[in-house]
Parts: sequence; C-alpha cells; structure tokens
Amino acid sequence: MGSVLIPDHLKPRDGRFGSGPSRVPVEALEALTGPGSVMGTSHRQAPVKSLVARLQENLAALYRLPDGYQVVLGNGGSNVFWDIAVCCLIEHRSAHGVWGEFGRKFVDAVAAAPFLQPPVSYTAPFGQAAQMVPADGVDVYAWPQNETSTGVCAPVQRLDAPGALMLIDATSSAGGMDADISQTDAYYFAPQKNFASDGGLWVGFCSPAALARSARLTAERWVPPMLNLSVAAENSALHQTLNTPALATLALFDHQLTWLLENGGMSFAEARTKASSGALYAWAEAKPFVRPFVADPAQRSPVVATLAFDETVDAKALTSVMRENGIVDIEPYRSAGPNQIRVGCYAAVDPSDVDALIACLDWVIERL
Ligand SMILES: *Cc1c(COP(=O)(O)O)cnc(C)c1O
Repeated sequence: MGSVLIPDHLKPRDGRFGSGPSRVPVEALEALTGPGSVMGTSHRQAPVKSLVARLQENLAALYRLPDGYQVVLGNGGSNVFWDIAVCCLIEHRSAHGVWGEFGRKFVDAVAAAPFLQPPVSYTAPFGQAAQMVPADGVDVYAWPQNETSTGVCAPVQRLDAPGALMLIDATSSAGGMDADISQTDAYYFAPQKNFASDGGLWVGFCSPAALARSARLTAERWVPPMLNLSVAAENSALHQTLNTPALATLALFDHQLTWLLENGGMSFAEARTKASSGALYAWAEAKPFVRPFVADPAQRSPVVATLAFDETVDAKALTSVMRENGIVDIEPYRSAGPNQIRVGCYAAVDPSDVDALIACLDWVIERL
C-alpha cells in the first residue's frame, strides 16, 4: 500500500505506546550521562546502595507498605519471580488465574515442576477474568492484577483460605494502579512498564508469611541461589542484589518513582492512567467500527487499553501506517486477539499524547 503521511500537528509529542518495555522519559535517559550518575560505578559502594535504599523506601511509601513487609529485589524480571515462587513459595499445590498469556506462563512453570502437585487453573476466555475461589490442598493463590496481554484487571483481595499465600503479578499494574498490600503476600513486578525503566529486574513486596514460608522451604529443598527468595531478602536488607544489577535500570526506575512521588504519588499516577485509557474507551464506545475488547467496564484495564475493530477496519494495516509515522507498538499481544490494537497507558504517558493518538487513528482510518 502507498504511504499515508499523518500531518505533524496531529501527532503525539512522543509516539511510543508500547505495553512493555514502554516509553522512557528523555530526561531520565539524559540524567544517566549527567553529574552524579552511577553508571560505570560499583554496585557494592555507597552511591548505588543508597540508590537501592531510596528505591525501597519510595516504593514502600507509594504503596503504604504494612509493618513487617519487605521490599525484596533481584535480577531476572517477573519471569524469574515465577521460578522463585515455584522453588520457595509453593509448598504442595497452587491455584492460578489464567485469562491471558502471562497467567498462563506462570501456571505452565508450576506444572513443569516435578516436586509439586498439578496446579489448579481458573480460566476465562480472553477479554474476561475468572473468579478466584478457595480450593482443597492449595497453599498459594496467584493471579495478575492486570493481564497485560488482554487488558483485563482483577481485584487484589485475599481469599478466605487461612494459611495460603496470595501472589499478585503486578508487573504492568504497579505504579499505575493502587492496591492494598495487606491483601497480598507477594506483590511482584518489574520496572519496564509504569516505572518507565528498562527490563531485567524483579521487585516483590513480601509479607512476613511469605518470608517465613521461603525460609522454611529453602531449608528443606535444594534451591539454586539465584532463585532463592531468602537469599534475595538477605541481600535486599543490605540494599544489594546477589549479582550485578543493571545500573541503568535502577537509575531510570529511581527517576520515575521520584517523579511520581513529587507529583502526588499514587493518586497522580492513577489519574493519568485513567485519563489516557478512559479517552480510548470513550472513543471506542462512540465510534461504530470499534469497541473496547473487554466488555465488562469493571474489568477494563486503566493501564493497557485493548480495542477491537470490526471488519471495516484492518488493524494490521492501521498499525503499520502508524509505525511508518513514528507511532509505535500499538500492535496486539502475539496471540491475544485478531483485529485489535493495544495501547500502553502507563503513568509516563501524557494523556494529551493519547488524545493526539486518537486524532491520528481517526485521520488514518478515514484514509485507509
Ligand atoms: C510484562 C509482564 C510479565 C513479564 O515480565 P518480564 O520482566 O519480561 O519477565 C509478566 N507478567 C505481566 C502481567 C507482565 O505484564
């Protein structure tokens, strides 16, 4: 097809709308080369250790961490946290919310572990969430607060299952959606989404019960050091990681977290994510050729908006024209659904950029 050139005055100031990794503020990147940057210095010395300590304190402040919870971190991203949960948190059997690709990846990791019983899955078709309910013999319940592949969010609420741990995948919700951490035993995430950083790091807010479970299981089981949550907790208490972290990831994360807190913290972050995604949902409800992919408004994600087009619009052609014009990464998640776009509405995205994106969508659809 011929090229379609969107007029410059319609375009967003920043054309990055990915759901992860997502846009990184230019000022944060510039600060990496500025005075006081930790790049190229030892992670065992005071400047990096105090950066890690500040991250831990600021995360605890952002989520009003209950007494006794610890901000634990290590290398490897959220996928590694799933393996950590397999090794250190699930004793016999876990139950999982599986309504998208990320929930599925976690349950698959558990199902492959020869020392655990087959996991329970609560499934729902893509575009919906299933109800989590207590089940016999289950000692860990796990589900994503925001299923990034589809843009479905679910409540963060403890089940009536005494002694069981609640593990919440907050990879794409942390920093853009609030949660009551006392309802969880591990609220874990990686910083390349709302925290506008790069990948490769995992963070978990761990409850006393989760830390005690890990201490007990890792004393009984052989666990590789990199997957040992208790080893990570010991290092994190000293503001360190077991092995070398990506310093740029830590520094970018710190930059975004400081910016969020200076502007009002969680209420500021939520106002931005809701304004951005709300504009997209309102547009999709108003136009005859597109609808919000998630039918139930209560399950519609404020941080990842997925929109489904009817047969009059070719979403593939639309996203490729957008890409030619510098508006990138609004393609849907690999297998989640046909003829969709998916827009990252993270805290770093200025809602005015989403308004401009909508103007560009209208402009291009008229000309396709
Ligand atoms: C992005 C994402 C992951 C994977 O994170 P990695 O850091 O790449 O391992 C897991 N779960 C959810 C909900 C995500 O959005």
